[in-house]
Amino acid sequence: MRIRVILSLALAAAAFAQQGRRVDDNVLKNAPKTGEEWLSYGLTPGETRYSPLKQIDASNISRLGLAWTYELGPGGGTQEATPIVWNNTIYGITTWSVVFAVDARTGKELWRWDPEVNQTTVRPKICCGVVNRGVAIYDGKIVAPTLDGRLFGLDAITGRPVWETRVAYAQDNYTITIAPRIAKGKAIVGVSGAEFPVRGFIAAYDVKTGKESWRFYTVPGDPSKPFENEAMRKAAATWDSAALKKYAGVGGTVWDAIAYDPDLDLVYFGTGNAGPWPADLHGGGEGKDLLYVDSIVAVDANTGAYKWHYQTVPGDEWDYDSVAHLMLADVVIKGQPRKVIMQANKNGFYYVIDRTNGKFISGQPYASITWAKGLNEETGRPIINKESYYSEKESAIINPGPGGAHNWSPMSFNPATGLV
Ligand code: CA
Repeated sequence: MRIRVILSLALAAAAFAQQGRRVDDNVLKNAPKTGEEWLSYGLTPGETRYSPLKQIDASNISRLGLAWTYELGPGGGTQEATPIVWNNTIYGITTWSVVFAVDARTGKELWRWDPEVNQTTVRPKICCGVVNRGVAIYDGKIVAPTLDGRLFGLDAITGRPVWETRVAYAQDNYTITIAPRIAKGKAIVGVSGAEFPVRGFIAAYDVKTGKESWRFYTVPGDPSKPFENEAMRKAAATWDSAALKKYAGVGGTVWDAIAYDPDLDLVYFGTGNAGPWPADLHGGGEGKDLLYVDSIVAVDANTGAYKWHYQTVPGDEWDYDSVAHLMLADVVIKGQPRKVIMQANKNGFYYVIDRTNGKFISGQPYASITWAKGLNEETGRPIINKESYYSEKESAIINPGPGGAHNWSPMSFNPATGLV
């Protein structure tokens, strides 16, 4: 009898270990303190990506060797995903959105799940590469976007789908390449596709059910229809209304950066270029700001309601997506503690913005820049070099090019040295 009791206790302990600890808001917020797991795309809600682990350092890195390999399978584009590490398991996603779970100690595949994206029909609709940047984990589920516009909640232990939801349709030129981020039990994703006429947006889904909780469009839609909110009404005034009517969407896609401040309860994201690129077509250029393209935008995490925006490139026609990694940090500037958001923008400037209100703090060039002569010291608005505007009749040579001075690849912030 006694033996049986001990045995059942041991089985219960084994089952608990297999389940891992529950990932909730508090765990996500405090995950970086130990660094033993990597529970979100940017490690912390503020995406600082600095691991406190110290076992591997300058004295022993030369002794690192290969422990195991795992074949991701057929690709499509470049592998850009950041894996999630939870419960001794590495979770990842391939370029064609196949999700996998691998034992971190042995490399043994625990499960593999293929959403069966129809590559033949979807490929011509992909504006900018066959790529997925990652999955999210919350409350026992892996949240996985698919390139063709679906979002899945998978059981983290078995890999079986618990729910499926539709974010956007590939036939409308939308794709999803961004890694979902979690804020208050919601998985937040944006869409890609602004080299086609699509209307950018970001949306939040309940991780328990997959039900859409809110959606924020980044650019106005057809002005003959009612605006979704006051932010869209204001944005429409900065566009040529004929262009808004003409295209299915004028860009501003959210395809890489999202960060979350649990204390301020704000979700931050970067928006992409205006579409189509040339001012001749989208009616932008001088005098038209084209909100909210090429911007850092803050919305309420609970409702998706607009809070503030900071536009890096008004009237863009150079593909200066403002989507690069958004990093949150608390730093001291001129003797004052500041809550900031930082971005090494495609446009060549390194921005530091007050994340409580969107006010410009500084913007320094970190690459060769010819499209702007500098930034207004007070507002950060660029002083655009008029020679960088182009048209059907006149070309222009500018720096940086459309690839950007920096693109999607993430940064890291060491709080001890204050270095990025
Ligand atoms: Ca772009």
